Amino acid sequence: MSNDKEVVVVGSVNADLVVGVDRRPGPGETVLGSDLAVHPGGKGANQAVAAARLGGRVGILGRTGDDGNGELLRASLAGAGVDLAHLLVTPGPNGVALITVGPDGDNSIIVSPGANARLTPADVEAARAMIAGAAVVTFQLEVPLETVLAAARVAADAGGRVVLNLSPPAPVPDELLRLCDPLVVNEHEAAFLLPGHDADEDPAALASALLARGPRSVVITLGGDGALVADASGSSAVPSPKVEAVDTTGAGDAFTAALCLRLARGDALADAARYAARVGAASVRAAGAQSSYPSADDELPA
Ligand code: ATP
Repeated sequence: MSNDKEVVVVGSVNADLVVGVDRRPGPGETVLGSDLAVHPGGKGANQAVAAARLGGRVGILGRTGDDGNGELLRASLAGAGVDLAHLLVTPGPNGVALITVGPDGDNSIIVSPGANARLTPADVEAARAMIAGAAVVTFQLEVPLETVLAAARVAADAGGRVVLNLSPPAPVPDELLRLCDPLVVNEHEAAFLLPGHDADEDPAALASALLARGPRSVVITLGGDGALVADASGSSAVPSPKVEAVDTTGAGDAFTAALCLRLARGDALADAARYAARVGAASVRAAGAQSSYPSADDELPA
């Protein structure tokens, strides 16, 4: 069997520091919260863990720091079976998401990029063989854009499939959009890319406007309503299994990871998205991000 990866993730690795509060402090104020919980997170690491847990051969290009959170972040990736040969260590703090959870389960999040901000095009060069050997290379926007663009070029030049999850939303060059097959966005990220449109428009209209920006295909995720896939041949709705949603954190990452894995294995986009919707739905049935991701032998909701 080839050692080449089915999915390579170029992206962020964060520690999620979570505290429950009755209310958020105002400027100059202090409030008491619940015990601190520390979970492995970051969109890149979430996607790598999700794809590996589903049985994929997965590698990650990313950077952790050398503070006390690094061990937890590496252990979660390693436990899922992700190849860590290109998970580099930077002196200094890890990426962190400071999350307060209010009484209604509402999140407020501050992300401190830490080591993620230090992932460079030179790191891409050093990981060229892994990226060029991958069937699918997937990106999010929690690492520097110049690094994403450099790696997407390497993947595309080698005939790999580039998947970009435009999260958190940020302006990207048309060159990058044209490499995407697909671009994966939720309604808000779609509207971000489309001045004059808004998130509650008909998803098919958003998808065709997005295609006009250059990606070869588009997937719009729609939470409990599933997803819409579109390419030059038309668009189709992908239903979501009905499940009791406990915590939707990281559902988008589970969806994207499953989509990438099935594309790497040769599925057509709509078939891959149908599987991804089942994995996304499975992930919302349990608390947390990585801790909620199903493994290859778990039964998925239909
Ligand atoms: P996040 O950034 O919070 O991870 P997102 O906004 O990128 O998420 P969503 O559209 O919320 O992504 O969810 C991704 C996918 O997960 C959906 O397309 C769907 O398949 C599944 N999903 C999300 N919420 C639910 C739900 N309540 N019930 C069933 N499936 C869901």
